[in-house]
Amino acid sequence: MIKLDLIEFADYIRPKEIVDEILKQNPNIKIPIPLSEIAKNIGIVDIDYRPLGNLEGALVANEYKTEGVILINNSKEAGTKERQRFTLGHEIGHFMIPRHGHKMSCSISDMSTTNKDEKIEIEANDFASKILMPDQLFCKGSLFDNPSIENIKKLAVIYGVSFAACSNKYITNHHEPLAMVFYKNKKFRYFKKSKDFPFYFSFECKKGTQLPLDSLANNLNDFSDENISLDYTDASVWISKTNGFLLPDEIIEEVYIQKNGYSVVLLKFEEEIEEIENY
Ligand SMILES: [Zn+2]
Repeated sequence: MIKLDLIEFADYIRPKEIVDEILKQNPNIKIPIPLSEIAKNIGIVDIDYRPLGNLEGALVANEYKTEGVILINNSKEAGTKERQRFTLGHEIGHFMIPRHGHKMSCSISDMSTTNKDEKIEIEANDFASKILMPDQLFCKGSLFDNPSIENIKKLAVIYGVSFAACSNKYITNHHEPLAMVFYKNKKFRYFKKSKDFPFYFSFECKKGTQLPLDSLANNLNDFSDENISLDYTDASVWISKTNGFLLPDEIIEEVYIQKNGYSVVLLKFEEEIEEIENY
């Protein structure tokens, strides 16, 4: 049962502050996070699921954002329940973050993880990610501490989010040096790195670039079913410059072939990364 004292939110403007306050007021919140219940408590009187063309979602609220309605695209093209859930989190973000407008229409490209132009959209995505996977709950326990595709998949199910949203959260918040490369038909799409991943990639990280020729990811050819493969690869295949750190001999590549040519590779190390002395 969610309870929210809205007066306490008056001073908060950032996604993290707002989510922290929701968690503070509801320390025993259940997972998956009950988003519609949160919405109801903040003044969202209706969540309307229906086809919305090229929009993922929309918010229609009064000027002072004390009451509003959220629309969520539920057409087949708009994707899975998990994606609709993320959209709901995104629209709640627009409603709760003071400087966001009271009437918002959010297209697929607005909400894309690679969209770097729209500050407000990035902030609403950030809010969605934080409310769906609160740091306090997500970033602890053995599934988080032992990086693997399997564990990220399990967390995605537990938190009711897509594998992509879960991976973004997992990688960017992780305390070990990790990177994940998202690609389609062996062509690079985008990557995420943890803050302690100190290396540059040895290939051009431009959309459409071929994956490194000698990588496991580039040499797997069975895209018929979802599958996971793991191998040790010469680290220089993936990473080059050392930036004050010794280049390890090997990198572990865990490849997850998904659907329609979409795939990811999780890059991690067995040994600890060593710093170059007196660098
Ligand atoms: Zn938006």
